[in-house]
Amino acid sequence: MRIAVFDEYRIGVVGDDGVHDVTAALPGWRAELAPYLVNDFIARFAELRPAVEQLARDTPPRPLDQVRLRPPVPRPTHVFAAPVNYRAHQAEMKGSPMGSNTGLTAAELGFFLKATGSLSGASDPIELPARPDRRFDHEGELAFVIGRQAQGVSRDQALDHVFGYTILVDCTMRMTATQREERVLRKSFASFAPLGPWIVTADEIPDPSRLTIKLWVNGVQQQDASLTDLIVDVPGLIEQASAVLPLLPGDVYTTGSPAGVGELHPGDEVVVEIAGVGRMTLPVRTRDW
Ligand code: MN
Repeated sequence: MRIAVFDEYRIGVVGDDGVHDVTAALPGWRAELAPYLVNDFIARFAELRPAVEQLARDTPPRPLDQVRLRPPVPRPTHVFAAPVNYRAHQAEMKGSPMGSNTGLTAAELGFFLKATGSLSGASDPIELPARPDRRFDHEGELAFVIGRQAQGVSRDQALDHVFGYTILVDCTMRMTATQREERVLRKSFASFAPLGPWIVTADEIPDPSRLTIKLWVNGVQQQDASLTDLIVDVPGLIEQASAVLPLLPGDVYTTGSPAGVGELHPGDEVVVEIAGVGRMTLPVRTRDW
């Protein structure tokens, strides 16, 4: 099942004919709390699923091009991110002052966080701050969403805690030799975490390592990778992070970028696709504030 969040944070099921509003399946839903209640919807999904399926059949579809797709988890408690998690990306960053360049990978480094406020949806542009002196890059990544609390989970139990899979573009301001901001700041500008276009529930993706990810800028393919090449795979990431703190329903974990990271400029168009998950087309522009 494909779960989307759209317009004023309504919850939808995406079919071939558009998005069906299933918000009424969540008891006690309130417009004022809508972005946060998606976490409850995810936590209670097994119990709510019959009502969700009924509403998906009964409510008329809205064409996808007539809704605003929001991040499918608008207000997760955490957005975890794997640093250097593909050998080929490690190689392309080696020796560069642009990144942290410790020579270590996600296996040793664990995770960093992106600010949850940096999330945006598939209908939103990537907005670069007006800093012509700085380089901004795309990192196309598979992301997964936690479905039930994971604390001290072993890798063999880990996938039981995944609600589903989606795409995150981990946008990044690179460092220079003299400008050395924290990674969290450089990756947390508003709109630097496009997430979507929706979540595909985990029952449809029994083995995430079989997925592939592709990213194009202005029609030129920049990234093309198989998730089998992850240094720390999805179960490993859950084992590693859940040893530190509980991962909560709705939490987003982005798995790291393959090789082929490249620059973004105002006027560009980024397309990112994971077959079996979805595709986002994201314009890039200069932000107006
Ligand atoms: Mn990344």
